This record gives sequence, C-alpha cells and structure tokens, in this order.
Amino acid sequence: MTQTSRGFAAHSPTEALVPFGFERRDPRPDDVVIEILYCGVCHSDLHTARNDWGGTVYPVVPGHEIVGRVVSVGAEAKRFKAGDQVGVGCLVDSCKQCASCKHGHENYCPKMVGTYSGKDLRDGLPTYGGYSDRIVVTESFVLKMPDGLDLKGAAPLLCAGITMWSPLMHWKVGPGTNLAITGLGGLGHMGLKLGKALGANVTLFTRSPGKEDDARRLGADRVVLSSDAGQMKAVRGAFDVIIDTVPYVHDINVYVPTLATSGTLVLVGYLGPLEPALNSVPLILGRKAVAGSVIGGIAETQEMLDFCGKHRITSDIEMIAMNEINGAYERMLKSDVKYRFVIDLASLGR
Ligand code: NAP
Ligand code: ZN
Repeated sequence: MTQTSRGFAAHSPTEALVPFGFERRDPRPDDVVIEILYCGVCHSDLHTARNDWGGTVYPVVPGHEIVGRVVSVGAEAKRFKAGDQVGVGCLVDSCKQCASCKHGHENYCPKMVGTYSGKDLRDGLPTYGGYSDRIVVTESFVLKMPDGLDLKGAAPLLCAGITMWSPLMHWKVGPGTNLAITGLGGLGHMGLKLGKALGANVTLFTRSPGKEDDARRLGADRVVLSSDAGQMKAVRGAFDVIIDTVPYVHDINVYVPTLATSGTLVLVGYLGPLEPALNSVPLILGRKAVAGSVIGGIAETQEMLDFCGKHRITSDIEMIAMNEINGAYERMLKSDVKYRFVIDLASLGR
C-alpha cells in the first residue's frame, strides 16, 4: 500500500510554499516508515525552494533535519522497531560501491540521493523531505536519536550539526585549537557549541553587532565584527581553522590573513565562484588553504549525535507551525533567527 503523505511544497522559485498531498513509496523490506514530529528549517531549504543553485525538481517538499518516531519496519530492517525515536538528515541513499561510500563518506558519493529534490536509485521516484507528516527511508540512512536529548532542539543536528562536526573532525579541532566560525545562524551557532565542547578556543566573525552576547553564551571566547578593520587586524595570524557559513557571495580575502601559517579556511555556506577573486599570495606565502565540506557521512552523523547526547548539546530553536514557513524564510533572509526555526509537524493535523 502506498503511503499517502501531506506536507508543504514550493511549485516554482517565485511561489510561496502551500499545502501539498502526495504519495510515498510502498515500504520495501529494508525500509523504515517514520512519523515526523519535528523538522528544522535550513537555509538550504530556502536556496532549493527558490532554485538559487539551479536543478530544483518541483514540486519540492523541503526539510532535511527530521526527527520522528518509527511507525513500522520492513521484514529485513533489523536496527529499528515501532516506537523508536529516529532522525533523518540530508541524504537517504547512495551507491554503496564507490570509494567515498566504502570510506563512510556517503555524502561525497556521486550518486548520493538527497532527502528532497532527489530521485530514488531503485524506483526513480522523486524524494520529498521533512515538511510533511511521514517519510519512508532505507534503514541504513536512519539515525538513532540519543536518549535524553530534547527532540525539537535535536532536529537541527541532522544538518546544521553534522555540517559543522565533519570539518571539525577532518581538520582535527580539539583542545587548544584556535577556531573561528563565520556567521552566526543555524550552522554557525552549532559550530560555536561543538567547537567549545571539543575544547577549542572559539571566535565568532559576525557582521551583526547585536549578536555579541548570544555568541558568548553559545560558546564564543571572542567576537570579531568583520566590518571593523581594527578588529580584523587584531586577529591577524590567529586561527588554525576557520569555518565560513555565510550563504551568499562575500570577500574571503579579508579572512585569509587571520589564518595562522598552515591554517585552513573551510567554506560550507556559499556555493559558487568567489568574488572578488581569491588572492593566492597569502596562501602561498603562508602555506594556507581554502577548502570546502558538505554535510557528513552516516557513521559520523551517528558519532556527532552520540557526542551531543553525552554533552547535552542541542540547537537554540524557535518553534513554528507548518503554515508559518513562508514568514520564517523571510526572517531567515534578514538573519533574524535565534538560531534555528523548527517546524512542529503536529500543526499539519494528523
Ligand atoms: P542562516 O541560519 O541563514 O545563517 C547564515 C548567517 O550568515 C547569518 O545569520 C549571518 O550571520 C551570516 N551572513 C553574512 N552575510 C549574509 C548575507 N548576505 N545574507 C544572510 N546571512 C549572512 O543559514 P544556515 O542555515 O546556517 O546556512 C548557511 C549556509 O550554509 C547556507 O548557504 C546553506 O545553504 C549552507 N549549508 C551548507 C551545508 C553544507 O553541507 N556545506 C549544509 C547546510 C547548509 P551574522 O549575522 O552573524 O553575520
Ligand atoms: Zn541543511
């Protein structure tokens, strides 16, 4: 029996999200059927709904910070049972054959299937995300939510959390690392919390003077206003790692001088050609690197969730009803979110 689902979808780049009824696939033997309780609102949802990156498949039901409760499992799905609290992030399948998959980096698989605006590898049907009442997912892409974490606040860990965690691990951020995070939004505030919990000295670069107190509460030891030349000069050569979450094109040449020798600036926000062009001089003369990173693999996502369970880390959230999503997008564009919107899917009505 197919699963009739209800959610909210965008039908074109210029239209608001509206109620949308659709069919989920018949559960396969290795599938888990999940009733969605909460779904975080990522800036990538907005980019996709508005086709900022091109390639959006409409109608699109966004949402890839999903937490819910297992309703049923297929005969071959052994890791979960009805009633379990689970999570689903940005990917719902991958080829399992390529080098990336074999190393647990399903997020770098060329055939990786996005939770929305993707295409199922087996039946070719479009994937629809978490702004909906239910989802059907292959069990190997379903995460266990740690006991004791508030599920509403934990939803954003499934994208914002892992997107920061993966580069923190890859670039070996730990006790004593001088880490900076650029942009205090959904990703940025998780970067402050995770960096602090890992023992790093954490700095926030922000263009918003009003965010200083929050930044310190969230884990920043220092706050640098990126528009203030004096403050930028004071941190020249300071950072081993910078993770830049800013969603739109911006001049990263102003941040490179704040890297220490051999330091790395990791872009996770803006996707596209840099403007103005990147100056290679400080890179060459300081053995500095500019890199990128996208979400994380399934095993490392579970690792991050378990770390957050142990350290009691969740996102600072603002709950919204499903029909408040369009206003939430407008506020997100003004960086007016503290610090993640999370949709209560009970507001769809059961
Ligand atoms: P968000 O909540 O909107 O936060 C972005 C922050 O960037 C803002 O709060 C603001 O912080 C800063 N900012 C600087 N210039 C801005 C501008 N012109 N417009 C808006 N904000 C600006 O977004 P998010 O959900 O954290 O996502 C950030 C970016 O990462 C998005 O582009 C998203 O698509 C991308 N993303 C990437 C991955 C990945 O795997 N690589 C995963 C998820 C999301 P201040 O006020 O402090 O300056
Ligand atoms: Zn996301």
